[in-house]
Amino acid sequence: MKKRMVMMGECMVEMYQLVENVYHQSFAGDVFNTAVYLKRSCEQPVDVQFFTAVGTDLISDKLVRAVEREKLDTQLMLRAKGARPGLYMINTDAYGERSFVYWRETSAARQVMQCFASQSSVEQLLGADMFYFSGISLAILSDADRRALFDLIHQLKAHGSQVVFDPNYRPALWSSQDACRAAFTEAYQLADIAMPGLDDHKVLFEHSTVAEVQAFLQQLDVAEIIVKDGKNGVVGTYLDEGFAAPAHQVKKVVDTTAAGDSFNGGYLAARLAGVAPEDAVKYAARLAAFVVEHTGAIVNKEHFQRFWSR
Ligand code: ADP
Repeated sequence: MKKRMVMMGECMVEMYQLVENVYHQSFAGDVFNTAVYLKRSCEQPVDVQFFTAVGTDLISDKLVRAVEREKLDTQLMLRAKGARPGLYMINTDAYGERSFVYWRETSAARQVMQCFASQSSVEQLLGADMFYFSGISLAILSDADRRALFDLIHQLKAHGSQVVFDPNYRPALWSSQDACRAAFTEAYQLADIAMPGLDDHKVLFEHSTVAEVQAFLQQLDVAEIIVKDGKNGVVGTYLDEGFAAPAHQVKKVVDTTAAGDSFNGGYLAARLAGVAPEDAVKYAARLAAFVVEHTGAIVNKEHFQRFWSR
């Protein structure tokens, strides 16, 4: 039977500088990026549903069309009346250093749980094989909406959905580290698969090694743990069996945006296809290495063809 994946997150308008005062506009966001690379990696038919709220304006319509163009299912892209998507700008200084500026305080995605309560129901999500969310999905919700999300995930889990969580810690989105630690701990307790970056845990939980992160997550009963450590590669455990995948050598790192997101998409696609974790990480590392050789979060479809011909 066709597998179904529900991926919850925020997709924003992305503007990156081409030359001074000239920007390229596209759409990106951690969970959206993962959904795109997951879908592109699936050889078998799989329904990848993007679960979010967008507004009712022109740019929201464009965003929905961009999601459709990636062959993702848009039924769970709910509409928040009068709202609009968040936006971020990537600027590059004279030395090639990039910096990000965000306008997302009032983005439509923050209303996703309220839209869900009025426009959808848990029945629409039941039966999904996997539910994927990130720490950014948690950070942008109010306390009450975060509670509603955890309740929803409990119900999906009780009905057999596998739960996948990537913390993607963004300090600026949290009122305090304590609030963030509490939310992430609760998310991990629900997760069957956890995909953190070592850096997130260094800052937030004061873990200094991959082994410490693994021990912490094993205590929380996470069965499948993939710890990402940038160019040092990943280390994983599945039901206490360990494995690793070094990062692939690349000729030139152009832009590391979405390295972790594409890794997650590739890994989950392989797992959905029945590939064992120790082989799934190898495929994912190859995909992430390809992505860091290109500018922006989403490698355009024409360039992406080259990944398959390698
Ligand atoms: P996150 O953004 O989630 O912290 P990482 O930066 O750890 O993710 O990167 C995820 C994966 O992407 C790494 O495990 C590796 O496979 C690949 N990757 C990241 N940076 C590089 C790099 N400079 N060269 C090759 N592969 C990379």
